[in-house]
Amino acid sequence: MACDKCGREAVMHAAYSGLHLCESHFRRSVEKRIRRRIREDGLLSTDATPDDPETWVVGLSGGKDSVVLTHVLAETFGADPRVELVALSIHEGIDGYRDASLDASERLTADLDLRHEVVTYAEEFDLRMDDVVENDPEEMAPCAYCGVFRRDVLERYAQELGADKLLTGHNLDDEAQTALMNFFSGDVRQMAKHFDASLGPFPERAESERFVPRAKPLRDVPEKEVALYAHLVDLPAHITECPHASEAYRGEIQQLLLRMEESHPGTRHSILSGYEELAALAAERYRDTGDGEHDDADFGECDRCGAPTARDICRKCYLVAAIHDA
Ligand code: SF4
Repeated sequence: MACDKCGREAVMHAAYSGLHLCESHFRRSVEKRIRRRIREDGLLSTDATPDDPETWVVGLSGGKDSVVLTHVLAETFGADPRVELVALSIHEGIDGYRDASLDASERLTADLDLRHEVVTYAEEFDLRMDDVVENDPEEMAPCAYCGVFRRDVLERYAQELGADKLLTGHNLDDEAQTALMNFFSGDVRQMAKHFDASLGPFPERAESERFVPRAKPLRDVPEKEVALYAHLVDLPAHITECPHASEAYRGEIQQLLLRMEESHPGTRHSILSGYEELAALAAERYRDTGDGEHDDADFGECDRCGAPTARDICRKCYLVAAIHDA
């Protein structure tokens, strides 16, 4: 097949748009969608100047999504004095998996001449995910522990690094799955929190004094296209799946979405755009009523670590204690 833009040989066909694209037009189209999302989300504050730049911390796991995001951000803003980019990687203590992806992250940040910080669960919490899986004091899936620890580390280090924004590499498939999971659970409050925490355009989002605002500039790009981009640009992405991956429900939703996308191309895009509109309305409603956890006023400080929490002891401190007492 020929590229619809220039007639050269196409490397991909997007059923949702009908377009065939050659390597060069495909790469440009991925970069364009990421830059457009950054613009439309108002990610770069108009107050940012060379004398007072914004700090963007990018969560870099070494997988294809975060590697592509970091590469495109560095290409776009690397020479922009209004933005300082810092890559942040987390080592969870998973043998045969995280060392290889950290290697990939180190090669990428060295190539891009980017500041790179690495944090380990061993140093932060005196534990490794491989051991947590063995002990499992709360009888939960590994990702249920790991997700709590990751959120804590990302938030604390983003604050410590003076981040104005925390950027993560969630792609279109990830976000359409999350949207569908929130629909299926009927959790409208969660939709509102999702919008204010990481989805909406900046002037419209509720400002939280407690959390660094998050952004997901890759969320218009399907997972397969992210993988193809990483391959064509020859980025050092680590592709293997974590041996403890355990989100069974998300896996079911993923399969459902892939089937729907095959018979009805464009399904992921329409789910996400409808979801964002509804989540914005939900966020507005909960902000107006100040109802429930959505409001900052519900948060106090954890008695042990001082992190924002609606309980006496935050979930992270509770889990760390349970693991060490087991
Ligand atoms: Fe942690 Fe689960 Fe991700 Fe593995 S798949 S790194 S256990 S959250």
